[in-house]
Amino acid sequence: MVDAGGATMARELIEAAERVTVLTGAGISTESGIPDYRGPQGVWTRNPEREKLSTIDNYVADAEIRKEVWRFRLAHEAWEAEPNDGHRALVDLETAGKLHLLVTQNVDGLHHLAGTSPDRIVEVHGTIREALCLSCGDRMPMEAALDRVRGGEDDPHCRDCGGLLKSATISFGQALIEEDLRRARAGAEACDLFLAIGTSLQVFPVAYLPGIALDAGADLIVINAEPTPYDDAAAVVLRGRIGEVLPGLVADLAGERRHA
Ligand code: NAD
Repeated sequence: MVDAGGATMARELIEAAERVTVLTGAGISTESGIPDYRGPQGVWTRNPEREKLSTIDNYVADAEIRKEVWRFRLAHEAWEAEPNDGHRALVDLETAGKLHLLVTQNVDGLHHLAGTSPDRIVEVHGTIREALCLSCGDRMPMEAALDRVRGGEDDPHCRDCGGLLKSATISFGQALIEEDLRRARAGAEACDLFLAIGTSLQVFPVAYLPGIALDAGADLIVINAEPTPYDDAAAVVLRGRIGEVLPGLVADLAGERRHA
């Protein structure tokens, strides 16, 4: 449940804001059928062993782990998933002229599919829609790599240099892309309102972003089913389901702009 007073205050903050920077996490995609990691039904909550598949050292060292990761990639929920009302609400925020930057920790590509402008999206943890070679950096559509797995290569290697192939995601132990991090930080510094949506705010350095925005004088709204470390610093905390809460906060804004 979301308390009506909190929702009203959140709407007022969004109406008053001129530059909104948004940070999304796995929670915005659970209503599209992609489980998060740390929520009650999260992949790691249900099976803590799965966390080891997300560590670069394990991936590089162990062919059996790579094979397991490729099997999971083939079956990933993202291939069937559609954007939900939460993703679409952020398109409405952009239509209303308020979206400054959308930083997402998600690797599922659903913000792109929903229609947010690609130049306003920073995928700080990369994307599973592409694969790359860990040695020469060659990139390819994920579908091309998955075709090879389907064809019997259970641990495909780069056809140019023989290096290990991996989804173009940032695993634990891998550095973030410096330019992505720079844009994300700049987005947090430049906004007058920061929305943290569907993230447990436990993965750094992304989890510093709300603090950067607060230090720069922005207000913070947290929309998440469970508590986060930033709840006490937020102007408003909304605990409901994102696909229900978020459209209600932005619907009229987009309508006003469309009908203007
Ligand atoms: P997280 O799993 O740590 O936290 C997700 C949070 O969302 C939880 O606190 C949960 O309570 C909340 N939540 C889930 N569904 C919700 C809903 N419908 N409404 C409101 N709240 C909801 O996720 P994170 O902070 O993004 O960190 C996980 C890491 O794993 C990220 O680095 C991300 O790259 C990756 N990841 C990505 C995906 C994806 O691309 N969809 C999925 C799982 C994990």
